[in-house]
Amino acid sequence: MNQTYHNFDQETKGWVDLIQPRVPSTKLTVDVNAKWVVVGAGYTGLSCARRLAELHPNEKIFLIEAREIGQSASGRNSGYAVAHSHFSGGYQKTQLENYQRIDRINQSGLKSLKSIIENNQIECDYKDSGIYHLAADKNSSEESDQFVDYLQKRQIEHIELSKDQIKIELGTNWYQKGVKVKDGALVQPAKLVFGLADSLPSNVELYENTPVLEIDMGRVSTIKTPSSILKAENIIMACNYEPIAKGKLKQRVVGVTLSGSITRVLSQDEFEMLGSESSWGVLSLHSGGATVRLTEDKRISIRNTAEYNNHRLLNPKQLKNRQEIHRQAFNNRFPELSHVNFEHLYSGVEGVTANKTNIFKRLSDNLFYAGCYNGSGITKGTAFGLAMADYACGNDEDLVHDCLSIAEAKWLPPKPILDLGAWYITKQRFKGVGKDR
Ligand SMILES: Cc1cc2nc3c(=O)[nH]c(=O)nc-3n(C[C@H](O)[C@H](O)[C@H](O)COP(=O)(O)OP(=O)(O)OC[C@H]3O[C@@H](n4cnc5c(N)ncnc54)[C@H](O)[C@@H]3O)c2cc1C
Repeated sequence: MNQTYHNFDQETKGWVDLIQPRVPSTKLTVDVNAKWVVVGAGYTGLSCARRLAELHPNEKIFLIEAREIGQSASGRNSGYAVAHSHFSGGYQKTQLENYQRIDRINQSGLKSLKSIIENNQIECDYKDSGIYHLAADKNSSEESDQFVDYLQKRQIEHIELSKDQIKIELGTNWYQKGVKVKDGALVQPAKLVFGLADSLPSNVELYENTPVLEIDMGRVSTIKTPSSILKAENIIMACNYEPIAKGKLKQRVVGVTLSGSITRVLSQDEFEMLGSESSWGVLSLHSGGATVRLTEDKRISIRNTAEYNNHRLLNPKQLKNRQEIHRQAFNNRFPELSHVNFEHLYSGVEGVTANKTNIFKRLSDNLFYAGCYNGSGITKGTAFGLAMADYACGNDEDLVHDCLSIAEAKWLPPKPILDLGAWYITKQRFKGVGKDR
């Protein structure tokens, strides 16, 4: 097995640039023998390493990260920690078990995050105030009605919102209708992932800037990094869309690149032009629609592009072009704030499968892989990390059963057909997006 996306791209823009820099932990430069190695320190790997440390307090858990904490999707996302997923297309009775299972997974992740944040006093602007799901155009308005029906049938606490009510709460006339789901939290993603990394139990050894280049599998496997060799009894890959495994698994995940912009801090007068809520997060009821947030520090963030860019971040020229799309969406929603400049511009890559499922798998006796959450991985990734630790230790937990019951990810063809297919599927996400973008 070896890693083919060798060049681990990083760029410090966006959420990480809004906060105090963090000193990364050192690279691994010596050879070690390890019982447990977790590869990748996003939400999945951090959660998995923490749980392994709890299960094996006398063992060292090695957590090996190619980049610096905060540079992967876990530090670049929009910060919606959902308790309830939105399944488009309306309630289907036959899917009830699936809905319930996915929400149990979301809620396990949310509960775990909340307790880690509280116990370690992680300052990450965590706000338990629910999440808006709004519609600006015809298709999404129909989806809004279907989502309300779904929430009613599932008895999930929510508030239906008219155009006027949205204007009162958020200060924008752009949306036609929507719903606020009461469970669910907002976070500053970079602050959260920094806090999770800096509060790991003392028996977790985190090494950053240490890409795993190759794994030779055996009863004890050999993991090669640029300056070290690890002999590992058990390996958990938590590396999202960059799995090191060759062959069938790699063929089931692609990286889709998203981009967004964040304004400067609004003045008090500008802030008062907005609605009654002091901070909020809007998810679109169209799959290609914008996610828009008013952050705790009074900035507006908007993310509304997604494309297949060969699993890579966008380059500066691409980013500049995408910012025109962010600007248009911002001006549509907040014409009275159109003078407010964007201070931050960023992209991030999320792991996507063709049939929108996730991966939770034992690949061989001592090799496991958890990841790929199709744009919804804060709570799910945390839950998958927890469950993977238990699964790898042979523990019979309900959460493990829930994660094992998810649908198998569909096989994807090799390049160049993969590239074409991924490009096409990503484009389809915007079909009929209209004013929701
Ligand atoms: C712009 C954007 C917005 C999003 N918004 C939301 C949102 O609002 N809510 C939500 O729930 N989700 C959102 N997501 C998705 C969410 O961010 C991801 O699902 C989640 O972060 C995945 O966590 P992870 O730990 O599995 O993967 P990652 O965060 O990608 O972490 C995997 C880690 O593995 C490391 N790695 C890879 N290969 C190797 C190797 N060979 N050796 C060592 N390390 C390696 C990587 O460097 C990386 O740090 C968004 C994603 C993006 C990009």
